[in-house]
Amino acid sequence: GPQSRRLLQRQRDVDSSAVAYPENIPIALDEARGATVRDVDGNTFLDFFAGIGVLNVGHTNPYVMEGMYEQAEKFVHTVDFPTEARLDLIEALEERAPGDLAGNSRVVFGGPTGSDAIEASIKLAKYNTGGNGLVAFRNAYHGATSGAMSLTANKGFKEHYTPLLPDVVHAPYPYPFQQDKDPERAVEDALNEVRATLLEPYGGLADPAGIFVEPIQGEGGVVVPPQGFLQGLRDIADEAEIPLVVDEIQAGFGRTGEWWGSEHFDVTPDVVTSAKALGGNGLPLSCTIYHEDLDTWDSGDHAGTYRGNVPAMRAGLRAIEYIEGNDLLDHATAMGNLIRSRLREIAEDNPQLADVRGKGLFVGAEFVDEDGHVADAGDVVADIQEYCYEHGLLVWKAGQYSNVLRLLPPLVVTEDQVETGLEIVADAIADVAT
Ligand code: PMP
Repeated sequence: GPQSRRLLQRQRDVDSSAVAYPENIPIALDEARGATVRDVDGNTFLDFFAGIGVLNVGHTNPYVMEGMYEQAEKFVHTVDFPTEARLDLIEALEERAPGDLAGNSRVVFGGPTGSDAIEASIKLAKYNTGGNGLVAFRNAYHGATSGAMSLTANKGFKEHYTPLLPDVVHAPYPYPFQQDKDPERAVEDALNEVRATLLEPYGGLADPAGIFVEPIQGEGGVVVPPQGFLQGLRDIADEAEIPLVVDEIQAGFGRTGEWWGSEHFDVTPDVVTSAKALGGNGLPLSCTIYHEDLDTWDSGDHAGTYRGNVPAMRAGLRAIEYIEGNDLLDHATAMGNLIRSRLREIAEDNPQLADVRGKGLFVGAEFVDEDGHVADAGDVVADIQEYCYEHGLLVWKAGQYSNVLRLLPPLVVTEDQVETGLEIVADAIADVAT
């Protein structure tokens, strides 16, 4: 509408050229509630994107907002002085840490972004091992600061900033669909390369410090690794005596229907990163949860002014209470399964919708072009995204070719909203693809 366009023009005039504004969704926001947003022209949209999977409890969730306001009225910032908000959230996270980390972990808050939690984890891994070499994976995204960028795979993000961290090896991530392999083979090939990098005397990393992996790749296209992959990494990390760092920034905090993505694979990481939904109602907060054996830093060894904003900590705790109090993990599983089964039905009549994946409300639908190729199918998803916008639904894309439709509705999305959204997606696919 006209008001949105006016703000868009103003943004072009004054804002950084780096803003990642999708030109095919010309919308400026006025208000948001639950799984819906309203633009400045008064149009309402279903939001199946939720700020890159941040608003797990829904926009402006009243219970979470109340905790944030109550804290903000008392005080906002203290650095590391103990506060109820801080300690309550730490205890809640330590209790809910994945696998055997529960009850045996510590939490260090970082700066406000996911990248901060990755930087802390790189330092923690190096400090504890005395090593330097890091294994990450092709198609991975871990952030945009220098250390995190070194682990991110996409060359486009990195080419102007080299040299970054030395001794980072990107091993293959099992991606059966794009690799055209059966799942066991994809896992075996990936693990063989990690073994060669970490355990073999020739061609390996001399002083390894850690393995960094997303339990499900998010920006890479909602790539769910087959069973056996994370378990295999666990064994290799043990043999190499280095920490397994699982990046739960996008997959964690309930998104997949479990608190942590790694729980789908029965693996206990040594280190877990969290951000995005951790701040409850969209407040910036990140943390690293790690095994207490790694708690070797001396006071002040990992410093920073903002290590946990107090209202954000209160909002995070309220979000945990809200998610558990309303059975939103089970709800996310049910709604995600509904979305995937409907998308698979659509795929039966539409060969361009070639693969449907995900866990809980972390959903990816991968498209190919008319000749069956992934590399030129980005336009298909951009057109679907635009069609959805025009019909009242916000959706996003992912994948190195931007050919994966990514759906990340708030966990509070109702079944009616899912049905409405799916109808729009179905119409969009029918309109755009064949
Ligand atoms: N890791 C993962 C898995 C992510 O998805 C992201 C953000 N998309 C990051 C790290 C970086 O987080 P931030 O953008 O908050 O720095």
